[in-house]
Amino acid sequence: MNFKGFALAAFILSYLYRLTLAVIHLRSADNPVPENVKDVYDEETYRKWRAYHAEKARFGILESTASFLIELALLALNAYAAFASLFGKHPVTQTFAVLLLSSLAELLLTPFAWHETMVIEEKYGFNKSTAKTFWADQAKGFVISLGLMTGIGAVLWWLWQTMGDWLIVAFAVFMTLFALAVSFLYPVFSRIFNKFTPLEDGELKEKLTALLQKNGYQVRAVQVMDASRRTTKSNAYFSGFGKMKTIVLYDTLVEAMTPGEICAVFAHEMGHGLNKDTLKNQILTFVQMAVLGVLAWLTLRTPACFTSFGFEGVNAGFALILIMSVEFALISPLFGLLINARSRRAEYRADAQAVREGYGKALVSALKKLARQNYADLAPSPLLVKLEYSHPTLSQRIAAIENGGNSL
Ligand SMILES: [Zn+2]
Repeated sequence: MNFKGFALAAFILSYLYRLTLAVIHLRSADNPVPENVKDVYDEETYRKWRAYHAEKARFGILESTASFLIELALLALNAYAAFASLFGKHPVTQTFAVLLLSSLAELLLTPFAWHETMVIEEKYGFNKSTAKTFWADQAKGFVISLGLMTGIGAVLWWLWQTMGDWLIVAFAVFMTLFALAVSFLYPVFSRIFNKFTPLEDGELKEKLTALLQKNGYQVRAVQVMDASRRTTKSNAYFSGFGKMKTIVLYDTLVEAMTPGEICAVFAHEMGHGLNKDTLKNQILTFVQMAVLGVLAWLTLRTPACFTSFGFEGVNAGFALILIMSVEFALISPLFGLLINARSRRAEYRADAQAVREGYGKALVSALKKLARQNYADLAPSPLLVKLEYSHPTLSQRIAAIENGGNSL
């Protein structure tokens, strides 16, 4: 079997793995709900929840199958090489051509995104997005992702030309810096999609500022984001480096929660900060990027990776596609397992911080509200929790909080 055969087999294998998980997820909808979270949904809402999850899970399988078939066809038919040959000989335009085809192929999935947001989410009352917002988001997303991918492809090509075997190190360093830049620029990007207004003075702002200052953080600003333009689900996050923090609250959160509950959510976020979870995540990001560097190096120095898919020589854009959807896709479940196990421990520790700040009870009621608003799964398959969940289940978290912040 040639390289192409192996690559296609790996691609099919990783799809089958995801399909298996999706089927396990679909079948877990009948799991009994644990005692300590029985009051999250009433009978009526719970029935609606089951219908919502089943519909989303079935539709998700359909969507990922469509995406898999499109990509499989492009790979199997050497479509990338054929398309790139229309764009001249320059390596950068060739890279751009391959990534353009990949982005165009993704556009074929737009009807699925439409159905998910405007039909399913709408039917269950989550969707706030209008057709105009939807198309604007799609267009912005297309331009941003094509631009980023072309940039990465061009840098990959340049590193390969100038550094050769040092590429592993150079690419890992570049990608780490890039990942840091993305998290740094996240507030900038979110401003393209949303409006921010300062939180009005009052009990909430005073309590939040006091909580953070007591633990040595300077709060630069507390801002409310107009998430309700798109969704009824709520969230909150910190942004900014070091001790200067901007707090961002979804307007949906401010509307639905008491000041005590919002402080409990923030005591949890602050726990992450005090435990240096972000720093640890960045180290893990670097390890992953180093693995990507090794894969990039191996791919670029193996001519069969390109010739077996119809290319005459190395194409940095196609290398990116092979790395992301074939090579890394095969090993990423293993990464996921390790990273998620670590992340769940970090969540327990952050909850424990909220308990120590005296917000244990408020956190339980906040988590229940969030679960209700986000239509959370109360009884997911334990296997899926181990493989895929970055957070413990609601029931596990409440048990730990009521146990004084120690997981059982
Ligand atoms: Zn957390």
